[in-house]
Amino acid sequence: MASGDPSIDHPGEFGLIERLAAIIGAPSDERLVVGIGDDAAVWRAGESYVMATTDTLVPRVHYDPDIATWEDVGWKTLAVNVSDIAAMGGTPTLALVTLVTAPDVDMALMERLYVGIRACAEAYGVTVAGGDVVSGGAPSPTITVALLGEALRADDGTPLLLRRNAARVGDAVAVTGALGGAGGGLRALRNGAPHDAGRSALVQRHVRPMPRLDAGHAAIAAGVECGMDISDGLVQDLGHICRASGVSAEVDAGLVPLDPSLVSVYPEDARGLALTAGEDYELILIAPGDVLATASATLESPLIVIGRIVEGAPRVRVLDAGREIAIGQGGWDHLKPG
Ligand SMILES: [Mg+2]
Repeated sequence: MASGDPSIDHPGEFGLIERLAAIIGAPSDERLVVGIGDDAAVWRAGESYVMATTDTLVPRVHYDPDIATWEDVGWKTLAVNVSDIAAMGGTPTLALVTLVTAPDVDMALMERLYVGIRACAEAYGVTVAGGDVVSGGAPSPTITVALLGEALRADDGTPLLLRRNAARVGDAVAVTGALGGAGGGLRALRNGAPHDAGRSALVQRHVRPMPRLDAGHAAIAAGVECGMDISDGLVQDLGHICRASGVSAEVDAGLVPLDPSLVSVYPEDARGLALTAGEDYELILIAPGDVLATASATLESPLIVIGRIVEGAPRVRVLDAGREIAIGQGGWDHLKPG
């Protein structure tokens, strides 16, 4: 790291995670199968393999109470956790929900929040089993969901998982659906795009993400071993896989599937948003091409191959007609200053 790198004094989210993980140290419990650094932790509990993940929505950072309904906020707070279980190839089971909010919170609004949580729980087979309400902070709540799940198992009982560290040179890189819609939806909410069908489709993509449990399961059944969900943007999230696997990735920009509403509302920026905007909650799946084809054949909408894993230092090269193009932000590192 060069001196003067702001990440030394102000570690970004990922730098901070590395430092904190170093204090926890290497896991000593042999029941732990996956620890810090993947979409969810996995451990052995008797015959089964339990997954656990947690995510927090902060007002004005992850949701804006002025532009999203409380039902939508409730849906999203559970859905982003369901997506991390899908990203490991598992099935969500049980959730705990914690609210941090001012004592004079509007009860009716919090009930609407829970209507959204219940809708998402019903859609994905999750049981909300408890949680905590803590007094503090702003009237708009900070919401934390902890979600458990269960891994599918092979005939010999071993867990079948989608890991970030399982990309191999020669594998193909695929995504489960069109990208950039959620980013376009956020822009439309903030900038007041004209109210038409395209705008509402984008806004739906932003406020009601639909985690890809089906694709995670299809991938596992076909023998895919590498994957994660797209929460921070395609290029940034694929970069996590490259680092975890010690490989490099090439993405053909022209192959990245664009959300059709995004193309109609923001034609100029559609490709940039599809490459870098977050919160689509589609999956990146990486495996030999024939394995991805097997998984794709069982899905309602096919997997789209967008690139390949190659040798080299961990990084993502985005190619347009074979020539590398520069990517601006490369996703969203939540704690970076500025
Ligand atoms: Mg994730």
